[in-house]
Amino acid sequence: MRPLSPSRALGAEISQDPFDLLSPVLRSFSSHHPKDDTSPIEKAWEVAKSLHEGQFRASGEPYISHPLGVAQILADLGCEREVVTAGLLHDTVEDTGYSLEECRKEFPEAAPLVEGVTKLSSISWEISSAETIKKLILAMQQDVRVGVVKIADRLYNARTWRFMPPQKASRKAKETLDIYVHLADRLGMGKVKAELEELSFKYLDPKIYREVVQMVEAKAGSRDEYLRGMMKEIRISLKQCGIRARIAGRLKSHFSIYRKIVVLKKDFDRIYDIVGIRVIVGSTPDCYRALGVIHGRWQPVPGRMKDYIGAPKPNFYQSLHTTILGDNGQEIEIQIRTEEMHRQDEYGIAAHWRYKELGDFESPEWISRTANWVKDLQDPSEILPALKNDFISEEISTLTPKGKTIYLPEGACPVDFAYAVHTKIGDAAVGAKINGVPSSLSAKLKTGDCVEILTSTSPNHSPSPDWLSFVLTPKAKNKIKRSLSREKNLEDRGEGKKALFSQFLSYGRMLSYSSLLQASRRMGFGSLDALYAAVGAGKVPPAAVWKAALRSGAVGEGQDSKRYSLRVEGVEKGERIELAKCCKPVPGDPIAGFVTNSRGVRIHSLQCPDFIKLSEKSPDKVADAHWKGPSGDFEAEIEVLALDRRALLADLSLAIANACVNLSSSRQKVASNLVSAYFSFKVRNLAQLEQVTKSLEQVEGVIEVKRAGS
Ligand code: MN
Repeated sequence: MRPLSPSRALGAEISQDPFDLLSPVLRSFSSHHPKDDTSPIEKAWEVAKSLHEGQFRASGEPYISHPLGVAQILADLGCEREVVTAGLLHDTVEDTGYSLEECRKEFPEAAPLVEGVTKLSSISWEISSAETIKKLILAMQQDVRVGVVKIADRLYNARTWRFMPPQKASRKAKETLDIYVHLADRLGMGKVKAELEELSFKYLDPKIYREVVQMVEAKAGSRDEYLRGMMKEIRISLKQCGIRARIAGRLKSHFSIYRKIVVLKKDFDRIYDIVGIRVIVGSTPDCYRALGVIHGRWQPVPGRMKDYIGAPKPNFYQSLHTTILGDNGQEIEIQIRTEEMHRQDEYGIAAHWRYKELGDFESPEWISRTANWVKDLQDPSEILPALKNDFISEEISTLTPKGKTIYLPEGACPVDFAYAVHTKIGDAAVGAKINGVPSSLSAKLKTGDCVEILTSTSPNHSPSPDWLSFVLTPKAKNKIKRSLSREKNLEDRGEGKKALFSQFLSYGRMLSYSSLLQASRRMGFGSLDALYAAVGAGKVPPAAVWKAALRSGAVGEGQDSKRYSLRVEGVEKGERIELAKCCKPVPGDPIAGFVTNSRGVRIHSLQCPDFIKLSEKSPDKVADAHWKGPSGDFEAEIEVLALDRRALLADLSLAIANACVNLSSSRQKVASNLVSAYFSFKVRNLAQLEQVTKSLEQVEGVIEVKRAGS
């Protein structure tokens, strides 16, 4: 908003004495902080001047004019000594040979601010404006004044955009409208915000800007007359009621008019409120009294009265707003405030430093809230749109049942509220009560709503993916996505485990816990769960795990069991090893060990149904096991089903002998024309057993040969 008679612009004073350029800065600073020592500012001036010696701005001016101008803006804002000092030094570390260490040593007060601004500038805007903004927000969480220095820097630069190529200027202007204008607004720096908006509009869209200026100018005469008349009437009415007031007319900014035409699609001729009136009174009660007088004299437009004194905006803005139908029937907006509220509107956060008697200044709540979700954003391309969205939404203030204020963007729902309170509450939310009335989780909240979140006590409860379609805050979005991916991760882990074990079964070998662990480390996973999850998500094929295990030598290494000539891996020396009675594996059979609770390790065939059940239930108890070379004899029994004929038994016995096996016993059962013959003999391994089987199958009349009991 531009006052009709513009007050002095921030940082506008320029020294006329070329040998004493700093004195306007010192004068302005001392007017706000009369007792403060100015020597650090003077020292910073000397240091910055010599460091920037020989550098020039695009305007052709010596570079030092820029830090000096930034310091002047900061001093005019009423900033503290270290902030003004940082303004002078803000480009030294980035653009000269000056190091942060030197800065810290010479200017301990200002160095953290210089560092904050320098870090931001270390990545060029062209490469990654998003990352820079992220860093700015995070630095502001540490010290909000970093943002003030950055905004002053941008204001000075915006004033000199005319020296820039138009394309570059328009890009800077867009970025300023998207981010810095909102930052200035959030910090309550109304005056800087308005100027940044106006300059950005001018360079972003010069043609429309000129058009709007012309339209406003064309109406200036009649409008000013009307405005003056209204101001006089208000002054008289207030005076009659004994209220002393300063009354100013104000012209709304070209940018706000443009916004009404373009965004709200209003016809310029129908935009009446391009002017407003500001009433500045001596005390808060006088604000309400003045409002009463004005409403008593002119008809207020319903729904347009706003009490920002009783409920200040989150940036501490206070005023009463109302719109009345003026003497000619046109709407006119009136703002009523005290001097103190007026300063707050113009200088925002800086006003707090100027008037320290107002009490300790608390860093605005939104900074840490914004920093908290910005910090979590990994994808830089998400940062700017999310911030822009967050910035443009009006804030509402809601309450927890305990009375804590939770600020949310307009249109936020109970899920946003829940995540704003705590991630755990968001994750566990099942329902909400708004002002005691049960409401849906997607209901829209209003200022003043008291919200109670009903939570689930089940540890398995998780957010619903549907929530993503109605939550508004980036924080809630992030946390829901994260929580869902954790859920997904759990599912993937289960799937991954299954996939791995069935793959191993198909290879005929089990990998023990320790082999898997080695394989997962070799593949760069932090834990076995991470490996399972990756397999389950289809990112790693099970075969790759198998190969990694082979490469790391995890497969095949192990402990001997002399008795069975087995290698079992990952079990203690001296651990009892038994062949499982359920499947009686023989050498060559694909096997695995299963660590029992008290009876050592049982060796099962991988086909054994009991083992499959056990290994699915407790995969960590599976031990890698395999037969170790030829040695030892194992009892095997074979069942042969054949058509009965003469000399059948003799032929079968011969076949067994041909396989170089010594028969130990045999028995037969004959039913009608079918013979079931059982042969017991000792074999060294599965290969020999298979030889016997093949040999028997050659015998005439044999229908089937199989391991007894299978
Ligand atoms: Mn700069």
